[in-house]
This record gives sequence, C-alpha cells and structure tokens, in this order.
Amino acid sequence: MNGNILYIEDNEQNLYLVTYILEKSGYRVTAAREGREGIAAAQRERPALILLDIQLPGMDGYAVAKKLREAKDLAGIPIVAVTSYAMVGDRDRALEAGCTGYIEKPINPETFLAQIEGHLSGGDRKGGAAA
Ligand code: MN
Repeated sequence: MNGNILYIEDNEQNLYLVTYILEKSGYRVTAAREGREGIAAAQRERPALILLDIQLPGMDGYAVAKKLREAKDLAGIPIVAVTSYAMVGDRDRALEAGCTGYIEKPINPETFLAQIEGHLSGGDRKGGAAA
C-alpha cells in the first residue's frame, strides 16, 4: 500500500493540522482545495485514502464522493468524510454518497492518526469509532 493520502479541504487550518499529523507519521499528503481539483488529483495520484471535507466551494463533498465512486478505477479507495460534530445528518448523507466512513471535526490530534489507520485497514463502515 502506498502512503499517499489525498485531503480535499478548503480550510487552511484543517489542512495544516492534518498534513502535520500525517507527515510526521510518514504519510505523504496531497492537498486539493476544491472538488474538481480533488477528483483530478485522485485520478493522478491513486492515493491509499481520500479525506473529504463536506462543505467545499462549488461542488460539495457529497457530489465529490458520488463522482469519485463513479470512477471504476478508483473503486476500493476508502473515502473518509470530515464532518462537523454538530451536523449529525451529514454522516448518513456522506455514507449514502459513497463515503466509507467519517471523522468528526474538530479534528482531535490525539485520536486522528488511529482513526486514519483504522480506515486504511478497512475499519468499520460507520467510521467515527473505527479507531
Ligand atoms: Mn470546508
């Protein structure tokens, strides 16, 4: 498995934090700040995992997940939605759109890596508690 993770996120603070945590542990992070750029990066990079913000400019995360799931060559890549803790309905919608699981924002630096590794190793589909 390659150690490349694609993060589609428009919030610079989240990008910074996630990149820092993952790179410190030896992963390589590709950042995309909106959906179309993210889909192109997924096709180019074939990452081991895609982290997907839901609230994005232009295409939202649900539309991005659906597009990614239409690409047969990307099947099998886990897509983990990054959803706001308060937005309970987002999680079901994310799973319906084709995400494999979700991680709640705000990101908890102490549990984030374990959550990612749970999803990389095929953790449970509900996400959240996969770690
Ligand atoms: Mn956002």
